[in-house]
Amino acid sequence: MGCASGRNPSGLGAQRIKNLSLFKAILNALTPNRNQKDITSLIEEFKYPKYGPGMMWERARDKVEAAGIPVVMNTEVVGIRHDDGQATALVLRRDGQQFEVACDNVISSMPFSALLRGMNPAPPADVIAAADGLGYRDFMTVALVVPESEGFPDNWIYIHDPGVEVGRVQNFGSWSPYLVKDGKTCLGLEYFVTEGDKLWTSADDDLIELGKRELETLGLSKAQYCEQGFVVRMPKAYPMYDGTYKANVETMRKWVADNAPNVWPVGRNGMHRYNNQDHSMYTAMLTVENILGEADHDIWSVNVEAEYHEEKVGDSSE
Ligand SMILES: Cc1cc2nc3c(=O)[nH]c(=O)nc-3n(C[C@H](O)[C@H](O)[C@H](O)COP(=O)(O)OP(=O)(O)OC[C@H]3O[C@@H](n4cnc5c(N)ncnc54)[C@H](O)[C@@H]3O)c2cc1C
Repeated sequence: MGCASGRNPSGLGAQRIKNLSLFKAILNALTPNRNQKDITSLIEEFKYPKYGPGMMWERARDKVEAAGIPVVMNTEVVGIRHDDGQATALVLRRDGQQFEVACDNVISSMPFSALLRGMNPAPPADVIAAADGLGYRDFMTVALVVPESEGFPDNWIYIHDPGVEVGRVQNFGSWSPYLVKDGKTCLGLEYFVTEGDKLWTSADDDLIELGKRELETLGLSKAQYCEQGFVVRMPKAYPMYDGTYKANVETMRKWVADNAPNVWPVGRNGMHRYNNQDHSMYTAMLTVENILGEADHDIWSVNVEAEYHEEKVGDSSE
């Protein structure tokens, strides 16, 4: 990602560019090695599902349902009732209807701040203030369909040009040919934004025009080649590491541990931890072992402590 230094107080750099020294970066630039796997940031090749990572979750859902366990989709958790030191029920909303289900354990990957705000009875003011203190960076993709010849061989390119707003361009056809139609590719222009800001609130048509202009400015393609455009807005894409997030998370963790220890925060926003998919899944897998009483993992050490680092199996960039 190139944004972090070794003195980064948040630990973000250590987390995201593991094993990458300046020497290794220069060596790799001079002698690219398509099979290198130990430096996360420089991995050249990796396996990718035909239609993207959602396929894995569709398969997981099928397996769970085949085992007779219902999977409920499109249902929002709006509250967690707790009593006498245990979460007792989830308050759910589907199609405008609110209803409750009793629970033994809650494994939560909803944003940690929303989890705390949903607790009923509510936590004390200082804990709610900690939840409200967590910040996020939001994300928008402007996807432009262009002829395949307008694509590039990489999966993504980071943009450091101060003359444009776009921060990264994906070539979805490079990820998997099954994601695009024959003879076409789709360039995903990525904008790192804040919900409600000027870009976020711009009309889709204006954003598509901006995307076309910026592709031209960067010399990547010409506006006339763009056949179609789509905009996708994703709130809370990135948990923000600011000067207070650690203390806020600590306050929230302690309250959950003291008041509802059968609520298990996992994942990325769930723990307000800048994890990729592998570490997000791993926190959930270890949590299940904890619930079953098979282990006593410290979930909060995943992707932080050496024993949970997967130094040899790098994750892909985001
Ligand atoms: C632009 C971008 C690119 C990325 N690229 C990569 C990559 O190349 N490789 C990689 O490994 N990782 C990548 N990541 C990171 C990866 O997406 C995350 O690490 C992973 O999705 C986190 O998994 P999770 O289960 O914790 O959370 P999520 O996948 O965010 O799942 C949380 C779910 O909870 C739901 N939810 C939230 N609130 C509620 C509620 N109140 N009630 C019910 N449901 C709720 C959400 O709708 C969501 O479906 C990328 C992330 C971004 C934003």
